[in-house]
Amino acid sequence: MLSLRSVLVFAVLSASGLTPARSLEVCHGPDHDCPGPDSFRSRWKPSVSNLTQDLDQFRVSCRKLMESFPLDEVDGNFVRTVKNCVFSRSSPTPLRGPLRLAAVSQNAIEGVLELDLALTRSEDFLSYVSGRRLLPGSVPLAHRYGGHQFGLWAGQLGDGRAHSLGRFTNRRGEEWELQLKGSGKTPYSRSGDGRAVIRSSVREFLCSEAMWSLGVPTSRAASLVVSEEPVFRDQFYDGHVRTERGAVVLRLAKSWFRIGSLEVLSRSGELDLLRKLLNFVITEHFPSIRSEDPDQYVVFFSTVVNQTAQLIARWTSLGFAHGVCNTDNFSLLSITMDYGPFGFMESYDPGFVPNWSDDEGRYRIGAQADVGLFNLEKLLVALRPVLSTNQQRAAAAVLPGYAEVYQTRVHQLFKDKLGLLGEDDDDGFLIALLLKMMEDTRSDFSMAFRQLGEASEQQLSSRNFSQMWALEDLSSHELFSDWLSSYLLRLHRRQDHSDVDRQDRMKSVNPRYVLRNWMAESAVRKAERDDFSEVELLHRVLSSPFVKQQDAEEAGYAQRPPEWARRLKVSCSS
Ligand code: AMP
Ligand code: MG
Repeated sequence: MLSLRSVLVFAVLSASGLTPARSLEVCHGPDHDCPGPDSFRSRWKPSVSNLTQDLDQFRVSCRKLMESFPLDEVDGNFVRTVKNCVFSRSSPTPLRGPLRLAAVSQNAIEGVLELDLALTRSEDFLSYVSGRRLLPGSVPLAHRYGGHQFGLWAGQLGDGRAHSLGRFTNRRGEEWELQLKGSGKTPYSRSGDGRAVIRSSVREFLCSEAMWSLGVPTSRAASLVVSEEPVFRDQFYDGHVRTERGAVVLRLAKSWFRIGSLEVLSRSGELDLLRKLLNFVITEHFPSIRSEDPDQYVVFFSTVVNQTAQLIARWTSLGFAHGVCNTDNFSLLSITMDYGPFGFMESYDPGFVPNWSDDEGRYRIGAQADVGLFNLEKLLVALRPVLSTNQQRAAAAVLPGYAEVYQTRVHQLFKDKLGLLGEDDDDGFLIALLLKMMEDTRSDFSMAFRQLGEASEQQLSSRNFSQMWALEDLSSHELFSDWLSSYLLRLHRRQDHSDVDRQDRMKSVNPRYVLRNWMAESAVRKAERDDFSEVELLHRVLSSPFVKQQDAEEAGYAQRPPEWARRLKVSCSS
């Protein structure tokens, strides 16, 4: 039995020597600053009368960012090493040829930007969200950051193909930073062309919004514009360059600052600027931290440790692998961002690596929690120069608590996935054995949980799994009957809720639809031929991932993945 416990591979950190620290609080509540799947629909739906009807009235402001930090003294979009600033001025380079608004997220347009959806049909909107024209108030900026890529310090990176347009404050008082991605070269473009292709932009657009609908902290995507501009990509780095087409996503986040934003300042000894950026991030985004607190940076660090653990626990519970967990892709606000070669695991496999370019499987799904810890250690290294010796010690003492926060949260999330109320000594074992059976039978992770929730107790007892393909796979395991008996017994021990309640609870946390690679690929292939119907369908379906939908069923989104999906690969090339 004990050896089985250890196979709860990525619900338990493999890092050794981790002991709980008392300085971190374990949060059992909903994710920070993120709606639960049920609550968000009521929150985002504003009445039409509250929406801006005139695009000329839509303003952004760059004042706060520009007044808070010195700007790069050098002007121009030529590639260079940049010092003593957090941002460089950089104008978008409009995409060539006719442009087309391929998709918009009504949820983001109305719920975040508070714009009437009808405005998105205007030429002005297309100009603004493609980088052809600047929004009133906008001073486009490219952010200077660095990062550890695949474990090694990579030096200056920065926004090489993104432009921050400014911040928009909505009627709820939320401030959102608008950013174009794929909008041309900046001082940080290095050898890149400043562009993003349709393929990666469709994936980012769909997944940002899908993650939001799953209740995971994430950046948002408001629109997707495609062009005729040729963009050359060697997708699998094998000498086969393909001509693709440029696209731009308008993406939104409360902040785009990353661990790498602090790292670059610390590494180059720009400590005044490091303090400035820290103070800014804390004041703007961590209101519970008092600026007079002499230990505010330690409290900040401890909060980021906590929230990062919680974020990765959410990824784990959904089988989501980010793909490129470099420190430059890890948000200081612990939101999922910089969607690239991500993947939702299908057959359960802790060694699942979504990114074909990640030869060593550094960012395999089972290692994400450990990598999160690695990134937080790098954050601590970046903070060290502005911490006293005692504060360095206190901050270091926080790190071991990461494992406990992560494990506690994962345990709760998996209990929720199984519809378990209360706590029983054997719950961990029940979860571990289920995952072990999934691994042995290569059962589909999302669907096995979903179908356990869709099956009534009677169906489970009689093992009536017709049409339940993932459960059929799972039930082929020799231990399945024993596991099922234990599970049903466990459910019976809590008689206070009906079976229908259990099913409802499970269906509200186990999505019926996730953005599987083959679904994204199918939408991309059509999009590349200017058919955006599947982007639109997927966007709509994934905005209600917990609800069974007729058109999604007809499209096969809840079916066993097609045979051709096995050969699919995604890479860093974007
Ligand atoms: P990513 O892998 O998208 O997180 O990007 C890593 C770094 O490379 C960031 O600094 C990006 O801005 C930069 N980058 C990625 N693609 C391009 C591109 N096509 N042109 C310029 N910079 C890029
Ligand atoms: Mg990135």
